[in-house]
Amino acid sequence: MSKVPALTLNNGVQMPQLGFGVWQVPDDEATDAVATALDAGYRSIDTAALYGNEEGTGRALAASGLPREELFVTTKVWNTDHGYDAALRAFDLSLAKLGLEYVDLYLIHWPQPQRDAYTDTWRALERIAADGRARAIGVSNFQPAHLRRLVAGADVVPAVNQVELHPQLAQSELRAVHAELGIATEAWSPLGQGKGLLADPVVAKIADRHGRTAAQVVLRWHLQLGNVVIPKSVTPSRIRENIDVFDFELPAADLAELAALDDGTRLGPDPDTFG
Ligand code: NDP
Repeated sequence: MSKVPALTLNNGVQMPQLGFGVWQVPDDEATDAVATALDAGYRSIDTAALYGNEEGTGRALAASGLPREELFVTTKVWNTDHGYDAALRAFDLSLAKLGLEYVDLYLIHWPQPQRDAYTDTWRALERIAADGRARAIGVSNFQPAHLRRLVAGADVVPAVNQVELHPQLAQSELRAVHAELGIATEAWSPLGQGKGLLADPVVAKIADRHGRTAAQVVLRWHLQLGNVVIPKSVTPSRIRENIDVFDFELPAADLAELAALDDGTRLGPDPDTFG
């Protein structure tokens, strides 16, 4: 079984560099999908209140019989629950649905800058972390300006920023800001949602050269860049394929070819205006 390396976050917590995403997996299918992932060796699961599958995810975690300390569970506070009190209530609900006493990582899902509430929401996350109910706290979809504003008034620097990132949207500027501030980069839609990217001729050529699949090559690119990745699949063979990426390495020339695919393609909403 594949051994997933860990990254050390800015508060010393270890986070598996590869995890399993469950966006768009219905609650009743999440239990099987997460069980398959745990069986394949994944230990990190990325869900969110919005996904409506915290209960199904929690059922698979409980049924696995794995010790809690071997698991790394992430969930997120949704846009309608910004603000100090609302975020605390939303967290209680997520924890109850997951059936857990703590999560490993709790994220603000989107900054919603026009609402101007993310600094209050962050104070709630700081409180949750201080109470030991989240081992680490972070953000998602934060742009450089949002990060700088948050850090300027915060007691705790976010451990992670989870953002859309794949070879067609490499986020170089944002990754440089993360490096400067000590924030780990986590890539959502790491496979470009399984669309055009996986059929790209450059990706296909590199995959052929290594006797690997397009998805495995893209995941290697992320891992060698230092990103945390959370590919999603409900297909058991793909779930296993996506974690089978720790026994080969892409040379610098391949990484450069993949870097040249960056054309700013955004598959999801613009964080400056969404919400
Ligand atoms: P991914 O880039 O992980 O792609 C998932 C798609 O690719 C699915 O359609 C899947 O199909 C297909 N796929 C998976 N593996 C393979 C493979 N080996 N070969 C071919 N196709 C494959 O997209 P997501 O948008 O789901 O992103 C991953 C996770 O990131 C989410 O599940 C969620 O946890 C997180 N996320 C966070 C966001 C945020 O705002 N913070 C926003 C979006 C995602 P199938 O399932 O049918 O096998």
